[in-house]
Amino acid sequence: MAVTSDPNATTNGTTGDGAPITPDLSAFDGIDFADAEMHDVVIIGTGPAGWTAAIYAARADLEPLVYMGPQPGGQLTTTTDVENYPGFPDGILGPEMMERFQEQAERFGTDARYGTVTHVDFSERPFRLLVDEETPVYAQTVIISTGASARYLGLENEQRLIGKGVTACATCDGSFFRGETVAVVGGGDSAMEESTFLTKFAEKVYVLHRRDELRASKIMQERAFENEKIEFVWNTEVVDVLGENQVEGIEVINNETGETRVMDEVTGLFLAIGHTPNTDPFTGWLDTDDNGYIITRPDSTYTNVPGVFASGDAQDHEYRQAVTAAGTGCMAAIDAERWLAENGRVEPESARTASQPATAKP
Ligand SMILES: Cc1cc2nc3c(=O)[nH]c(=O)nc-3n(C[C@H](O)[C@H](O)[C@H](O)COP(=O)(O)OP(=O)(O)OC[C@H]3O[C@@H](n4cnc5c(N)ncnc54)[C@H](O)[C@@H]3O)c2cc1C
Repeated sequence: MAVTSDPNATTNGTTGDGAPITPDLSAFDGIDFADAEMHDVVIIGTGPAGWTAAIYAARADLEPLVYMGPQPGGQLTTTTDVENYPGFPDGILGPEMMERFQEQAERFGTDARYGTVTHVDFSERPFRLLVDEETPVYAQTVIISTGASARYLGLENEQRLIGKGVTACATCDGSFFRGETVAVVGGGDSAMEESTFLTKFAEKVYVLHRRDELRASKIMQERAFENEKIEFVWNTEVVDVLGENQVEGIEVINNETGETRVMDEVTGLFLAIGHTPNTDPFTGWLDTDDNGYIITRPDSTYTNVPGVFASGDAQDHEYRQAVTAAGTGCMAAIDAERWLAENGRVEPESARTASQPATAKP
């Protein structure tokens, strides 16, 4: 990761192979920043990471501006019971939990707005952001909390039954399926890990894979093959999810023979076909891994651009939990607050005269 100590200098981002990408600034052509609002901290995203960052930044008197993006409240709004977030011994519904996060952030002065940050210019401070392609905003610091989106199959009934037996998180929802039969879709390491984990609760776990061999590492495969509760169903794809208010079975097709059948014993469908980090607007500016996850400096939320911090699932493909996202959101706000105190605020170039270059004001 290319980290520079100059608070006003940035480097272009790189992908996993280390190749720099040139950021595309064409979206800024013709956008007038003369009257753009200026904010000390702009937080992008309102999942557990974004709201927690907002709570901390607001309590530090930074009056954060938060953009809620395409999914206000984030991924937890797509689930029902959350039973593993500390402080809720009886569990809490995902959407209600996120409303409470929002209330707490607004109580301390967070300015929360609808809108998606579509483009950024991190070439110099103050950073330029475009919201919904057209609204210009200046930011002294930016906290990215845009999360990651679980990949689904895209079937109509699958989408309708998300949170009602269809899920993309075994760690989160596995224990709701004690003694039941579930199916995991996927053939990579996470499918193996999730299916093995699910055998703690489920009576039977089918792993449905569309090929006749797995992508998973050998050790993960072996662990799954050895588990008596797991049965592999090869060359098989889900074509429908059955049930009115809860999953009551799945319809699958063997893609070699074309034969379809209903597996009506399946009451839980776990998708383990990957996640996509929502980091497109930052392409070319921030270092990411091969899959687009933002790389942060160890033990911090610093990205390769000084003044830009990343938290939550957008930079974490390992743990992907509400509490870890909230934890890094807290870190990002503390990092941003300290960084701003150390490096000061910068006027936009239009406000500077030729003889007054960018200076940091303490
Ligand atoms: C079905 C399901 C059930 C789950 N259950 C649990 C559970 O029980 N317990 C648990 O701990 N975890 C659970 N998780 C995981 C948990 O939801 C995530 O780890 C957590 O939400 C990540 O938080 P985040 O803040 O990083 O991002 P997200 O929650 O993904 O939020 C991302 C936010 O960024 C916004 N955004 C994205 N792009 C932009 C943009 N360009 N501009 C502005 N905003 C943008 C979105 O609108 C959204 O508000 C579950 C996940 C799923 C999918």
